[in-house]
Amino acid sequence: MEFKDLGLHKDLLKAVHKLGFEIPSEIQEKAIPILAAGDRDFVGLAQTGTGKTAAFGLPLIQHIDFSSKDTQGLIVCPTRELCMQITRDLVSFSNFKQNTNIVPVYGGASISDQIRLIKRGAHIVVATPGRLLDLIERKAIKLKTVQRVILDEADEMLNMGFKEDIDSILEQIPDNKRVWLFSATMPKAVRRIASNYMVDPIEIVVGKQNSVAANIDHRYYMMKERDRYYALKRILDYYPDIFGLIFCRTRRETSAISDKLEKEGYNVVALHGDLTQAQRDAAMKKFRERTVKVLVATDVAARGLDVRDISHVIHYNLPDDIENYTHRSGRTARAGKTGKSLVLINTREVNRIRQVEKLVQSPIEFKRVPNAEDICEKQMYALMDKVVATPIDNDAIDRYWPVFYNKLKGIPAEEIVLKFISAELNSFLEYYKGAGDLNASQEKGGTRTGRTRDRERGGGSYNRNLTGSKKRFFINLGENQNLNKGALVRLVCSETGIDSVHVGRIDLHPRYAFFEIDEKAAKKVLPKIEHGTYEGKTFNVTVSQDSEPAPKKLKKKKRS
Ligand code: AMP
Repeated sequence: MEFKDLGLHKDLLKAVHKLGFEIPSEIQEKAIPILAAGDRDFVGLAQTGTGKTAAFGLPLIQHIDFSSKDTQGLIVCPTRELCMQITRDLVSFSNFKQNTNIVPVYGGASISDQIRLIKRGAHIVVATPGRLLDLIERKAIKLKTVQRVILDEADEMLNMGFKEDIDSILEQIPDNKRVWLFSATMPKAVRRIASNYMVDPIEIVVGKQNSVAANIDHRYYMMKERDRYYALKRILDYYPDIFGLIFCRTRRETSAISDKLEKEGYNVVALHGDLTQAQRDAAMKKFRERTVKVLVATDVAARGLDVRDISHVIHYNLPDDIENYTHRSGRTARAGKTGKSLVLINTREVNRIRQVEKLVQSPIEFKRVPNAEDICEKQMYALMDKVVATPIDNDAIDRYWPVFYNKLKGIPAEEIVLKFISAELNSFLEYYKGAGDLNASQEKGGTRTGRTRDRERGGGSYNRNLTGSKKRFFINLGENQNLNKGALVRLVCSETGIDSVHVGRIDLHPRYAFFEIDEKAAKKVLPKIEHGTYEGKTFNVTVSQDSEPAPKKLKKKKRS
């Protein structure tokens, strides 16, 4: 079948041709004739990337009277990025139409600018749910004239916690409007929208349909309540390549867990309602740009989170409202990818796992909290992969090569490799020496030894100790200036832009501190924070020549 057979007008066919689309995709072939003809509600089950924007966009444009200034089409989609993408696509589909005005509206941008653009006569508004509700409440958009409402990625919108928003939008749309819904999956909640707000819709399925959580691997770990945090650390150590979310129940828990992890050298940032908008934006930016690999968040703060490729969702605690489990776990395994949803429970919470199983209609697999050996194996293999993938920077090595060469010449190549592996392995074994089993059974409780507990209390992530050679710095700030390890890591990272994983050992003293930075990242430190102020006190940073006390010169300076 060709585009000309789908019932589209000439100017749209010209636009399609200009875009280089030769053959209609499956969803286009099935949906366009129905939607172009007109008057049925419609449900299309199709993944992103199947060409569904053109499947609804082309017929929508065909129905618009561009000589009128009324808003006739409304598209609701989950994220700002998608909102802009859809708008761009619609603009190119309407390339051969005159006087078109297609307006994207989304949160985080000036609402007054958006109102102005709508008031100029927006034929189609493409919106994210929250911002659209704002505009409806301000009476900036007239729903009376809207003839077609399109819900794109409906399952994503529900996963992101927009259920109430969608309901309240659809309740305000007059009855005689057509609703076209697109979704990659058809969980009950999406079905409910179709039955509540649509009249006898035609349903089209394209490709293999995902069930609710078919591509999410759900697992749970059981430990004593007091071991929850240590189990979390083990899980993080076990997944060195994680790009994930940790969900906590309250703001306080979110902030406490995130602070603790950060102080112990994990690459995390918090997102919760006690932060200012600027702090939240900064946290999201770091996470989106992957400078930070783990975001610790509350359910509310993570609403509308639109980061792709999240590998793991960790439920540090199950949500009070178990329904939120699907919103949380739906952050992973998007766009056909797979992902893991990991739940930590104590021995009294097994019943809640059964509730979750009912909710997601899939078994939640019991997993043992990784022990030292499991983590070691994972970390060592990850290290090997990293080593194999590392490009050789000859210029950087040149400087050190003669010394290396002299030290290593005469040792057989294989032995050199074994020595490098052992250097890493030994430091790992040292870190986890005496680490016991954190698993708890319902009957007997945990089997962990007291020694493990003390050891793990010592803190620090294993990763932190893994990194290579370091440069040591001195800073003339210490505990007397309210500096703690976390604050020092934050200070160094925010002043220099380096990632917290590059900060190594920290020695805090009352009036000064030492900190170590990975050799490579260290180049950035001095030029950026030789001087600065911290809580009103000026400070200096110098390269530390030796390991101990504060240089006298600086102490004297302070007294004068
Ligand atoms: P979508 O699923 O709408 O995000 O579309 C995925 C990609 O496929 C976009 O880059 C479209 O421009 C492109 N596309 C959509 N329909 C066709 C088609 N019939 N032929 C070639 N490319 C298409």
